[in-house]
Amino acid sequence: MHSAEIKAALQAYAGEIGIDQIGFASADPFVELKERLVRHRELGYESGFEEPDLKKRTEPTETIPAAKSIIAIALAYPSKMPHPPRSKEGEYRGIFARASWGTDYHHVLRAKLEKLQQKLLELVPVATSEIMVDTGVLSDRAVAERAGIGWSGKNTSILSPHLGSWIYLGEMVTDIYLPPDQPVTQSCGECTACMDACPTGALVQPGQLNAQACIAYLTQTKGFLAEQYREKLGNRLYGCDTCQVVCPINRKVNFTHQEAFTPDVEEVKPLLKPLLTMSNRQFKNRFGHMAGSWRGKKPLQRNTIIALAHFKDHSSIPLLQQLLQEDPRPVIRGTSAWALGKIGGESAMEALQLAQVSEEDEEVCAEIAQALIRLEKESSHREEKENVTFG
Ligand code: SF4
Ligand code: SF4
Repeated sequence: MHSAEIKAALQAYAGEIGIDQIGFASADPFVELKERLVRHRELGYESGFEEPDLKKRTEPTETIPAAKSIIAIALAYPSKMPHPPRSKEGEYRGIFARASWGTDYHHVLRAKLEKLQQKLLELVPVATSEIMVDTGVLSDRAVAERAGIGWSGKNTSILSPHLGSWIYLGEMVTDIYLPPDQPVTQSCGECTACMDACPTGALVQPGQLNAQACIAYLTQTKGFLAEQYREKLGNRLYGCDTCQVVCPINRKVNFTHQEAFTPDVEEVKPLLKPLLTMSNRQFKNRFGHMAGSWRGKKPLQRNTIIALAHFKDHSSIPLLQQLLQEDPRPVIRGTSAWALGKIGGESAMEALQLAQVSEEDEEVCAEIAQALIRLEKESSHREEKENVTFG
């Protein structure tokens, strides 16, 4: 079978099995990407979740020695929630980024790619191939760009002219030659909306992301969140969509045809307080199938506490006090102390003073002390103001 015919058969089959976009790229080394990744590492911009071996990340022949082509696929996911529940006083809600709506996309894309792999084997029984989705060694975005799925935006997302950037990417490296597609020529032009909207300035240059400052990454860390980022988190529990929400390419884009990605609104915009009393089993049952659960319960609970502080939810004070006194995890106790300091009021102050007597962990003690200083300052400001008012 001629390579153009194999490609055409794979394209047709991709449509049949619900792949939204398919593109073909050569398996040549990603030379320019390698240079960028070296600079990125030198600047300390990596998240730490990436494959550390840059050779593996940029040379497909490290995966399959005779690699000739890479088949890239994209699946569109929804950007709008049907009838989202609203936060109410005392019943505030957190939010999961869209990439965590519905079933974990890693499974969905892998299943599609496995079908495609089977098809390739039917067409060329001697073909060798390897599937990657997000956690593979290659850069999904670099592959998608080369395969003509879309262009690389200033927010580092791949922007498909047809689908926008709410797309999941995956690929399959193979030793079969398939005629490559042309990269997309469209670009962001003069637009800088994503860079202007980023709450932390993580988009340091067009197309360059400092992952260490990116909320999407920070929501997935397990330790204490640096104080300067806590306020920026808002009610985000997992991920951050801001630089895609503001993108004009995504305006009016909302693809809902992939049923696996339909969000359960109570899952992706859950009530905050119940998240703090969940057992491991309850967590697994409720969130285990979502991409946003991969780091376990602790980061989500830490972010939940930060979100309660964001809303200044006074009704959460008893729960935060309980966590501060009883939770075995210092990150949860320390973040609760910080949140009590943010929410304020007499009962928050009392809770902090009580915990200060028995707390032994150094970081938690520091958080309690900081929170008390903040509350004492606020209370003396208030007194000063009252004295001025009443003369
Ligand atoms: Fe900034 Fe959020 Fe985009 Fe990260 S995901 S670059 S924090 S807007
Ligand atoms: Fe490009 Fe503008 Fe979209 Fe940023 S917001 S990715 S600059 S089109």
